[in-house]
Amino acid sequence: MVDYKKIGLKAGLEVHQQLDTGKLFCRCKTILRDDAPGLVTKRFMRVTTSELGEMDQAALEEFKKKHAFFYESFFDTTCEVELDEAPPKSIDKNALETVLEIALLTNSRVFEKIPVMRKIVIDGSNTSGFQRTALVAVNGKIKAGEKTVGVQTIAIEEDSARPSEKKDGAVTYRLDRLGTPLIELATAPELFTPLEVKNAALEIGKIFRLTGKTKRGLGTIRQDINVSITGGQRIEIKGVQDLQNIDKYVEHEANRQAILLEIKAELEKRGCTTQKILENKMAPLGMLENPKDFLKGKKISGIRLPFFAGLVGKEIQPLRRLGTEFADHVRKKTAAKGIMHSDENLEQAYGITEKEKQAFAHSLGVAEKDAFVLVAENDAQKAKEILEEAVLFRAAQCLEGVPKETREALDDGNSSYLRPIPGAARMYPETDLEPINVKKETIEKIKKNLPLSEEDREKLYTAWGLSRKLVEQMKLNNYAPFFEELVKNGFNATKTAVFLLETLVEAKRLGAKTDSLSREQLRQFMEKTRTGEIKPEVETELLKEFSENPQKSIGETISGKKIEHASDAEVLETVKRVFEKNRQLVEAKGQAAFSALMGDAMQELKGHASGKQVSDALKKILEENKK
Ligand SMILES: [Zn+2]
Repeated sequence: MVDYKKIGLKAGLEVHQQLDTGKLFCRCKTILRDDAPGLVTKRFMRVTTSELGEMDQAALEEFKKKHAFFYESFFDTTCEVELDEAPPKSIDKNALETVLEIALLTNSRVFEKIPVMRKIVIDGSNTSGFQRTALVAVNGKIKAGEKTVGVQTIAIEEDSARPSEKKDGAVTYRLDRLGTPLIELATAPELFTPLEVKNAALEIGKIFRLTGKTKRGLGTIRQDINVSITGGQRIEIKGVQDLQNIDKYVEHEANRQAILLEIKAELEKRGCTTQKILENKMAPLGMLENPKDFLKGKKISGIRLPFFAGLVGKEIQPLRRLGTEFADHVRKKTAAKGIMHSDENLEQAYGITEKEKQAFAHSLGVAEKDAFVLVAENDAQKAKEILEEAVLFRAAQCLEGVPKETREALDDGNSSYLRPIPGAARMYPETDLEPINVKKETIEKIKKNLPLSEEDREKLYTAWGLSRKLVEQMKLNNYAPFFEELVKNGFNATKTAVFLLETLVEAKRLGAKTDSLSREQLRQFMEKTRTGEIKPEVETELLKEFSENPQKSIGETISGKKIEHASDAEVLETVKRVFEKNRQLVEAKGQAAFSALMGDAMQELKGHASGKQVSDALKKILEENKK
């Protein structure tokens, strides 16, 4: 067990959450599409020095890759704003109010005048070359577990376009995600253990969800973590998606920094200096006698790493070695796939014999305390780039201990080198938009309607008679504020909760476009079920029809509908027919065929029977046929 206090662990979080509102600066819906785009546009990114301000290392490294970009748009859910062919429209009111709500929930100080800024982005993920961002509030605090954590800033910004394909140096982006509102909340760097980081992240996620206006599912919330230890460096790990494992990322990074500091101390003890590392040169070593297949026909080159014996193979994160960090730099800076080094079992991995290893060491002038790195690359210029620019560069950084850099979260709690730390000169004012004025009345209105806390919701919903299960499902659901409003207006709590949490989900599963129904339309629908005009058995069927014909009113949808209830005998008849049709499936899959049969039977009965009637009948038939 690492004593995090002793190593001086300090961490902060930056949490990004997509909002389930309209797009931030145009009036398009925020819908991700998986169908074919209506239009594809090709662009080349060009950056002027005035936009870059001071030379920004991160921007330059990206720009040197010279990408062409393709953008996929949709005629109905993206517009000229996403293509940067039209100026931005005013900020989405709903999104702004949600961020203000979160600012008030975290006791932050809201600015009266909020200027919109442009943040340089040149990886092509923004058609304009910048991302719009606005700082909304500062200096708040939250309670996470036993701890009070400072909230430094709360901003609202546009999400980027999402990459859909990378091929031969050309990246294709889909514009559906571009412009989706993102709230960005940054805590103070005052989290001192991995567990404190996890608690804070969970608490922030919960506060966001209380608003009922956040997107749900993988990729809709993203955290960047800043981690440092005493003597180390403030390292930013970008793109952690898995909240449950967030403590692992902190743990692994703290350990990485501690081991890199040990490596630094060991190198100094051995008498290594930056000068002694950087004076080494790449040397061609010829072909291997009996290499593994993937190395056949490849020329080997190498470089000496003075005083690095045993250190290149040192594990700095689970299953990642210092040599892996060298390889990260090689991959980011050149197109090469990787490197080989003297701390590896060269014979087993590559077919390099002990004799060849000795010969290589000899030609590279490697002494007992040294290590060496090899690369299989026929182009001598490229081999030189890999070994002298990428490997030697990272090796020399070992004498700094922990190099300043931005890292990318990997799936297993580890991280890899992403890019140098971005410079500070990356923002300038958005000239197409007036600063946003936050009116006192707006703040007062939001204050009056702040969402209940999780605990208060539990109490209230229980008092309303909801079962334990429904309370759990509803309390952080996006429908919670809507649910409360309906119950306050006389709707039955349990029936309403079941409708919002179960009936809608079931209808969606059966193909109803429930997401396209507005809250007002849902209210009208529930009103009809309340008065008995819509029978429970036909709810899903009618939801399907209602959501597919938005121009029709609910009255028109249900008028003239035959909504009698099928008898148990009729249901059994239909289910039998479905069963006979699928006999083979049942024989092959047994119980696993249940849901398929269930769906088919529901479809045939077109909503004239309840799910329970059908599942009872199906169970009966399956039971009979078992014998
Ligand atoms: Zn648009």
